[in-house]
Amino acid sequence: MNKVDLIIENAKILDKSNSNCSSPNVSLVIDSGKILIIGDQNTLRTNYESNQVWNADGKLLLPGFINTHCHLFQTFMRGLGKDLPFIQWMTNSVRLMMPNMDEESIYLAAMVGCMESIRSGVTTLVDFMYAHVKPRYADHVLQAFDDCGIRGVLARGMTDVDRLPGSDARPSSHATAEQSLAEVDRSRSMYTGHPRISFALAPSVIWGMTYDGLKEIAEYAVKNKMLVSMHILETVDDDHYSLEKYGKSTLRTLEEIGILATDFLGVHAIRLSEDDINLFKQYNSRISYNPLANMILGSGVAPIVKLSKQGIPISLGTDGAASNDSQSLIEVMKTGALLQKVHNQDSAALSAWEIFSMATEQGASCINMEDKIGSLREGKQADILAIDFQKSNTTPCYDPIASLVYSGNSENIAAVFVEGELIFDQGKFTKVNETDILIRAQQKASELFHSSMKNR
Ligand SMILES: [Zn+2]
Repeated sequence: MNKVDLIIENAKILDKSNSNCSSPNVSLVIDSGKILIIGDQNTLRTNYESNQVWNADGKLLLPGFINTHCHLFQTFMRGLGKDLPFIQWMTNSVRLMMPNMDEESIYLAAMVGCMESIRSGVTTLVDFMYAHVKPRYADHVLQAFDDCGIRGVLARGMTDVDRLPGSDARPSSHATAEQSLAEVDRSRSMYTGHPRISFALAPSVIWGMTYDGLKEIAEYAVKNKMLVSMHILETVDDDHYSLEKYGKSTLRTLEEIGILATDFLGVHAIRLSEDDINLFKQYNSRISYNPLANMILGSGVAPIVKLSKQGIPISLGTDGAASNDSQSLIEVMKTGALLQKVHNQDSAALSAWEIFSMATEQGASCINMEDKIGSLREGKQADILAIDFQKSNTTPCYDPIASLVYSGNSENIAAVFVEGELIFDQGKFTKVNETDILIRAQQKASELFHSSMKNR
């Protein structure tokens, strides 16, 4: 008999040949954070045993969702500046609060954002931390990843201009690329060999970075084989700036600098020309589609159907709670599909199964983790959701993915495993005291809001 860390029994898995689901007698054998075997439970019972057996009770197992773009610190800004023009939204949310945030508020905001994400089935989250007001902010996001057990990619935000273009406004913070990259070195060395925490580089946006700063980042990324994520063409401002400053489009400038030659994940990608789409294809660049944030800020619609037809990998992002207000990836799946149907005036555009693939397999490819996560396969990391369809919003259920995308919500997420560890079970977090964090977060956020209003 082989002893293993965990066995999940009485589960269903996706099986398109059998009404989309297998019969409920599948077992997953998990050891050292990985899925060792998926198979018939009666057969596996004769070969494997574990001190931890989790009874799925007929629930469907799915790979955990991957959120490729958010700003966890903004959880403290949800609901601020709503229904105002873009600049007034910025002034009343991010620019109001961020300069006054301290280490504890960063930690609590990140914890609340992580807990909301896990409740909606997110097991991997890319946090695009802004350039730091205080030098070691990222440490507190990393601590939150570690405390709640989510798989976290810390994308270190960078802004190296001290004036925003066309105005006297200062960015909420800035540092040279050299200073920021030294901090990336320090953070990476703290988490070397950590099974769930990794790092990426996040230059803010073309008008928030100097040419030389971007060049340094591109060189560092290639040398260290790191993902580069950047806000790109969310509005017409990027191309206006790039054309005026460099005489060419944003993407052509990024090509010249060497950013496109990295593993590049462009966030938003709304105002794309044919040339931009060709460049994405040519450089095997990827996209993070953030439909809810794009709708709330009235930014426009990313040409996802067109990009997908070109074979460009697409992933999903919630964006920060300052612009989206929610960190639910189930909401993003539904809205993301509906927005494409409206935009293309075609009810067949972007199906539930396609957007589910963006939340899972394509999401993994977009962040270079396709060998580790994104599907339930033997040899992959055990990042697993147990979905309970026996709820009023998903009964009856014929096609589980259509039910989840169009009718689902966080109540359907019965359990969440990351790296083979049960971090959320039947509405409760196993590693953190949710009520305590929520009480502390509300108190801290209220204090921060009042002091920010006084200092403005
Ligand atoms: Zn963003």
